[in-house]
Amino acid sequence: MADPLLRVDNLKVHFPVMRGVIWKKQVGTVHAVDGVSFTLDRGETLGLVGESGCGKSTTGLAVLRMQDSTAGRIEFEGHDITRHDKAQMRPIRQRMQMVYQDPYGSLNPRMKVNDIIGEPLVVHGMAHDPKAYAARIAELMRTVGLLPDMAERYPHEFSGGQRQRIGIARALAMEPSLIICDEPVSALDVSIQAQVVNVLQELQERLGLTYLFIAHDLSVVRHLCHRVAVMYLGRIVEIADRDALYQEPLHPYTQALMSAVPVADPVIERSRQRIVVQGEVPSALNPPSGCRFHTRCPMAMDRCKTQDPALTDLGQGRSVACHLHTGA
Ligand code: SF4
Repeated sequence: MADPLLRVDNLKVHFPVMRGVIWKKQVGTVHAVDGVSFTLDRGETLGLVGESGCGKSTTGLAVLRMQDSTAGRIEFEGHDITRHDKAQMRPIRQRMQMVYQDPYGSLNPRMKVNDIIGEPLVVHGMAHDPKAYAARIAELMRTVGLLPDMAERYPHEFSGGQRQRIGIARALAMEPSLIICDEPVSALDVSIQAQVVNVLQELQERLGLTYLFIAHDLSVVRHLCHRVAVMYLGRIVEIADRDALYQEPLHPYTQALMSAVPVADPVIERSRQRIVVQGEVPSALNPPSGCRFHTRCPMAMDRCKTQDPALTDLGQGRSVACHLHTGA
């Protein structure tokens, strides 16, 4: 079997909390990402799903090395990049790109679209010939379904969906093998979301791209992802093939997220049991003891308050961190 494109092993990103004006003293630690492991094969899409504050975006930033990690290992295209400095990351960064959540805030409003899309080519010294540069931008615009004669316009002249296509064209400029999509459709209308997801899917088929697709609910990732990892409070609590996860979610948190996904059939929708998770996500500054989900879990048992369930391989590509399934 071929090596995965990306291997993340026991990744931790902790932030010290400091107090004091002159003599600063560490008074705590935010466990934003706390032991996350997964692999991503070439041409695959892995969904990383969880409520806001669960550490999914920090995981994405750490993979890109835009955020230092506290511990763990990140391997990309067979190379350990965990401690690479800026200069070492420069050639690798071309192969890993990001599409951001906010198509309104992530594009410089003072730059024309051709400059926005072409900026990575300039930064990486790949824009020597003006004619070839213009042709490459036109090609990138066509690739994402935009007309090249819009290249002289500014971002405010485009709709939200078109702006996200500009962001995707910019990410494609360096011909990356991995694109981290950080909630790329959550700021868009539902009707536009499907269009952008379709663009990403077509590009994957055509260019063999690999995606880490970050989202806060399971409805968005359903059509795009081959596998889904569910995160809660800095950890992966369940990871499985998409169909297995949607047909039979095992972790109570996955079950709750799944019960919030709307079903098209109104009869089924009316008869469905909705699992409502009570309360807010606890603070990553002071995560609950035992199973981190026990303070909100409708199935919590006494042991869940003290015993931390390990993410356990149940076979067929599924792992779950819950005492109900691991039996440990
Ligand atoms: Fe719920 Fe206990 Fe399973 Fe945690 S280990 S998800 S609290 S049943």
